[in-house]
Amino acid sequence: MWNFSFAFPTLLILFIILGFYFSLLRLPIKRNHIFVQMIVVETVTIISNILSSYACNQYKILPHWLVVVLNMIFFLAFFTRITLMFDFTISVLNVDRKIPYAWGQLIRLPYYISVLVTLASPFTGWIFYIDDTGYHSGPLYNILYISGFWFVILMHGFVFCFRKNLSQRRERICMLFYSFSLFIGLLMRICLPRVLLMNTFALMALIMVYLAFENPEYDLDLKGVVFNDKALRKYIEENIGRVDHGCIGVAVRRYYEMRDIYGTEQLDAGLYMIGKYLRQQFPDEMVFYQRRGRFVILGKPEMKFDEAFHSIAERFKNPWKSVGVELFLDVGFAKIEISKDMESSDNILNAIVSAFEKINDQSIDEPVVVSTEEILQIGRQTLVKRNLEETIEENAVEVFLQPLMDAKTGEVVGAEALSRIRDFEGNIIPPGIFIPIAEKSGRINEVGEQVFEKTCRFIRDYDITKMGVQWINVNLSPIQFLRLDLAERFSRIAKEYNVSPEMIHMEITEESMVDDNFLERQMQMMEEKGFRFVLDDYGTGYSNLSRLKKCSFINIKLDRSVVLDYHSKPDEILTTMIQAFKHMNFGITAEGIEDEEMAEEMKNIGCDYLQGYLYSKPIPMDEFVTRYMK
Ligand code: C2E
Ligand code: MG
Ligand code: MG
Repeated sequence: MWNFSFAFPTLLILFIILGFYFSLLRLPIKRNHIFVQMIVVETVTIISNILSSYACNQYKILPHWLVVVLNMIFFLAFFTRITLMFDFTISVLNVDRKIPYAWGQLIRLPYYISVLVTLASPFTGWIFYIDDTGYHSGPLYNILYISGFWFVILMHGFVFCFRKNLSQRRERICMLFYSFSLFIGLLMRICLPRVLLMNTFALMALIMVYLAFENPEYDLDLKGVVFNDKALRKYIEENIGRVDHGCIGVAVRRYYEMRDIYGTEQLDAGLYMIGKYLRQQFPDEMVFYQRRGRFVILGKPEMKFDEAFHSIAERFKNPWKSVGVELFLDVGFAKIEISKDMESSDNILNAIVSAFEKINDQSIDEPVVVSTEEILQIGRQTLVKRNLEETIEENAVEVFLQPLMDAKTGEVVGAEALSRIRDFEGNIIPPGIFIPIAEKSGRINEVGEQVFEKTCRFIRDYDITKMGVQWINVNLSPIQFLRLDLAERFSRIAKEYNVSPEMIHMEITEESMVDDNFLERQMQMMEEKGFRFVLDDYGTGYSNLSRLKKCSFINIKLDRSVVLDYHSKPDEILTTMIQAFKHMNFGITAEGIEDEEMAEEMKNIGCDYLQGYLYSKPIPMDEFVTRYMK
């Protein structure tokens, strides 16, 4: 006789999980698909276990075929249950895609054999048979345990080897207890075969998985109406490089202002309504909420973008209304083309973020379009960022020197220090690419300090006057210029290398000259320590003469574009301006001198120093020494 006292409560608890799970929105990723299969198969296993045991008790009154079929269903469900649990394990450990197909099949061989043996059982009696005296185990019955323990041991092994792939402690602990619970379940079945206790342990394993990984709430936002940004990452990571997607970004413009005006509670209520509305509008697509009023709709590549933009924009013309809430919000759109050729999910996520940033910047109503090419470009930037980070960590920012020539004598008088980094193949990445990235990622201070320190070391190690060099220019980014401890830090480094600060001229651009008071204060602090300032790239920004008068630059560098302009169409403006500068006691340098003619022109209109490829490109320090050391 079989004992059902554990099986029924187990089944009832399982129904509670089923109810919760299916009432919530679920992210269509592989792990969730396996979990759905797991709970369905678990239900079938428990019900067929109860029914087949009941049928075996009542074998005398029930038709023979029914008893056989019910037993067969139970055994098939039993084998499938444990194999699915194994599939789930390797899926959460992220190793499922890494196992070669043939190996994957080989590992599952015990499952395939068990299924075949079960299907053959009604004819062969290998696993079970029913005769006049009732149910009996067949000669191959123990295949149940062989297959069961095989998968449980594999699960333990995988969890042990790849536990680092689980990011949270909660997940690691769960996976350990999960396979352990199945192990105990199998032992219980051996010890108490008639108590149907294994179901209870399998359910325990399921509940653990539910709590640690599969609660759909982990992927939801805005009271469960849409997916959250973690879900977006998970989905993109899994589907990247497999399918094309159409992607729409919908953003509430001026989110923070709106929050100040309406208050957090009202705005949240509005966002909930927007989430609900988008779900209704795009029932076949996935809607994600990325915080700060930003929604992402992911769908098929042939999604009708214009129609979607139009209908959402129309809806936003009306207020978002519910009890005690009435909000008028401004909306912006982005269209992001996600192609299956893209390899990195980070690039796509960065592209989405940058599209949202552009929506906020844009005052016109046109949607922001992020093309596949732009996403690849973002990918290249990510790579440069990684190169940059590694270079900074290894103190490997290189400094190249470009000579500054005296316009009258044609001899070297100074040099400009220009930074370089290298990609993983050793090719040079120019500063035009990595400096803006370093500025955005907050690492420009480190780049600047390495350049400054290496310049100091160069001055200490060589007698630069023997190369004709009287000073070296170092570029300062506007971000570095904002540091209040800049004078202190640079003067400390110069002291460390025993270098007189007068030998180093700081190049700043007009971008650093935003706040007059700050500019004066910072320049004064630096000058007190002995540093001198040069204004770089003159003619590219908003040049204000009266402001220049207030600043103690020792030199103004005309940007290459100004020099080229004059070269193609000489006019009086530049000549007059240079005269005015000289009157104000500024020295003048012309950048971008590429031929003798340009050099002659610049010399004639009064430039004191010349810099350009005509004399030399920026070259590594040791090359500079060999070339100019007399
Ligand atoms: P910049 O300070 O105006 O430097 C002059 C740039 O013009 C250099 O480009 C130089 O190689 C280039 N150049 C010089 N002569 C010629 C010429 O005859 N023809 C042409 N076509 N180009 C010429 P580079 O080294 O690529 O640097 C670009 C910019 O990156 C620099 O412009 C500077 O603003 C920035 N930069 C370079 N190193 C640093 C650094 O260490 N820190 C900071 N904050 N910015 C840096
Ligand atoms: Mg410069
Ligand atoms: Mg310049």
